Amino acid sequence: MKYDVVIGLEIHAELSSKSKVFCQCAQQFGGEQNTRCCPRCSAMPGTLPLLNRTAVEYAVIAGLCLNCDINAFSAFDRKNYFYPDLPKAYQISQFFYPICTDGCVDIGSKTVRVNRIHIEEDAGKLIHDEYAGISLADYNRCGVPLIEIVTEPDMTCADEAIAFVEAVASRLRYAEVCDAKMEEGSIRCDVNISLKPEGSDVLGTRAEIKNLNSLKSISRAIEYEIKRQSDLLDRGERIIQETRRFNDNNGRTLSMRSKEEAHDYRYFPEPDIPAIMFDRTQIESIAAKIPMLPEQRLKIYVEEYGVSEVEAKIILTKKEYSDFFNAAVAEYPNYKSTSNLIVVEVFRLINDNGCDGDFKFTPQSLAKLIKMLDEDIITKAAQKTILSVMFERGGDPETIAKDMGLVIVNDSEGVANAIKEVIDANPKAVGEYRSGQEKVFGFLMGQVARKVGKSATPALVREMLLKALK
Ligand SMILES: [Zn+2]
Repeated sequence: MKYDVVIGLEIHAELSSKSKVFCQCAQQFGGEQNTRCCPRCSAMPGTLPLLNRTAVEYAVIAGLCLNCDINAFSAFDRKNYFYPDLPKAYQISQFFYPICTDGCVDIGSKTVRVNRIHIEEDAGKLIHDEYAGISLADYNRCGVPLIEIVTEPDMTCADEAIAFVEAVASRLRYAEVCDAKMEEGSIRCDVNISLKPEGSDVLGTRAEIKNLNSLKSISRAIEYEIKRQSDLLDRGERIIQETRRFNDNNGRTLSMRSKEEAHDYRYFPEPDIPAIMFDRTQIESIAAKIPMLPEQRLKIYVEEYGVSEVEAKIILTKKEYSDFFNAAVAEYPNYKSTSNLIVVEVFRLINDNGCDGDFKFTPQSLAKLIKMLDEDIITKAAQKTILSVMFERGGDPETIAKDMGLVIVNDSEGVANAIKEVIDANPKAVGEYRSGQEKVFGFLMGQVARKVGKSATPALVREMLLKALK
């Protein structure tokens, strides 16, 4: 039987505020266990939460980036569960009144609706040492500010789910509210997936696959679930509503527990944190701080700057590259040459030498290098050589060109001599050209250029040769 696949996502994104959400402990990835904890985030009796203003502001920015409504009123609730990764035995989250609702993200082929975004605190990490038979708790991550982005079940395959996660990660990175490093767990994803008979309007029973932390595992887990669920349905069996875990080693999902319903968590309003209230002016002043997002930049690059879409998208893979490009063209607006030099030459140097967007040369020196070629001060080949020196150790392109003898001198006497020699040596070709066979010009031009080498620009050689052949 054929089935339609229905996928919804819950993305947990760590906000990159300097401190945790309800205390002043620093939040960073890694570090020695239990060194970034205080009585508040380790839930000592008598401590009270203290809401981090920056984290709230970042959640608003995330909501605006995903086209959400920012609610004038939102509030925190306690989600009760007993598990040693959160010593309070409840998690502070937003259940009844989330901060953002009703967003949408365009993923090219379609629009995925965002149901809500809420703020919550992260839990600690448990390390299970099976050899010693013990479990260790690291509370450094306790209280790290998270947003949970919950979509409507609008996706129908792994590719759409990946496209959504990538679009969200890219926007959050550009807005500088989350570093979106999946390998460090700053973005984690739960996938809700169900199957229904093709064309049916009735949703099937869904399974939730928890805590996927790479695009590859999201994709593999979805593929596996489609196969598992369709096999069950083909055999006339029932899908159980449950939470499943993905095993990266064998590519399978396995049951963790039957799925909880909201009432299992006994949500109730958090009495220790006042509600968050926003007026329009406050939201507008936060919105004004958001840097331009990749979609807007793409439009400008392609439509205003005339850069090819392929090159524009490559430059936009990282905000650092895009900012670098913007600064270079602000200095000298040859958009196409700049994008081309970055995409072809700079990226080749990055691939060969490894570099993470932290260049030793400035956008201004790249702009100067492009201008030097445009003004016939150097050749295209020299531009490449100079760029690789700049990549390796920085420096001013003009100084490098002089030091390496790469400046074109435009020695017109030398060119005149070369032209004379070529004309004398090729009477047949010259005759042909003069009798109207213009394509011979290329051959003669090549002969002269070889003799001239780097001592004159092609433009000068061409101009003088044309004159001499008249
Ligand atoms: Zn703390």
